[in-house]
Amino acid sequence: MPRLGAHMSIAGGLPRAVERGRATGCDALQIFTKSASQWRARPLPAEEIATFRARAEEFDIHPIAAHASYLINLAAPDPTLRDRSIAALTDELDRADALGLLGVVLHPGSYTTGTEADGLRLVTEAIDAIFSTRVAGTKLLLEHTAGQGTNLGHRFEHLATIIDGASARDRLGVCLDTCHLLAAGYDIALEQGYADTFDAFESLIGLDRLHLLHLNDSKFACGSRRDRHDHIGRGWVGLKTFARLLGDPRLAGLPMVLETPKDNRQNPAATTPDPADLRNLQALRDLMG
Ligand SMILES: [Zn+2]
Ligand SMILES: [Zn+2]
Repeated sequence: MPRLGAHMSIAGGLPRAVERGRATGCDALQIFTKSASQWRARPLPAEEIATFRARAEEFDIHPIAAHASYLINLAAPDPTLRDRSIAALTDELDRADALGLLGVVLHPGSYTTGTEADGLRLVTEAIDAIFSTRVAGTKLLLEHTAGQGTNLGHRFEHLATIIDGASARDRLGVCLDTCHLLAAGYDIALEQGYADTFDAFESLIGLDRLHLLHLNDSKFACGSRRDRHDHIGRGWVGLKTFARLLGDPRLAGLPMVLETPKDNRQNPAATTPDPADLRNLQALRDLMG
């Protein structure tokens, strides 16, 4: 059975995210290990790391993945922004290592004023620069994207080019997002489209590279290339698709986390579950029977 969970806020400290996961009934989890919209990160105190790890163990919540900051752009043509991105991603990997996480989920990047081919080459070079000095530790999970604007990673071919070109192939994995798949034009809402999508993934990348799934419905139709997550069963992905995915024996051992909209803004002091998370998790568990 897949291990289900959700993205949880770290408001009030990292251990709070695990406590929120527990209160919400999560088996697996995703977090930001720092503010996702800022470059700066406060150092993680040893005591906070220890409490986080102890809670995760006590509540049997695993694996836990980190999602990298949205500011990081390894494909940026501007060398200053690219260097800053490499430094920030290195810090994210350090944090994930300290916390014992499954991996750091990263959007490959945007080529902005450059070209797609240059963007893919810059991402591969940045990954090589980062992993040349990191012999062991957490994985980098490249997330397949919806393909908004000049975002890379919306074709499986992009991810394959990055992975095949990198020296540190054994440190790279992939995260698939159901909203992004549909938005990018992989029509998983149809039975044949679902089969074709996973056949293409298997032949271009390999299912052994898939380490995490984001379960989100999509506010926009197949091929829209718009990244707008919706509640499970309320969008264009649909309940049938989630049922197919949850029952797919090839994906049975994988963690699957929600990144669906929340009802409430998280109170740093509270660990009360968000009603929207409870509804979306229940919708998935109902499909699992
Ligand atoms: Zn993402
Ligand atoms: Zn996602």
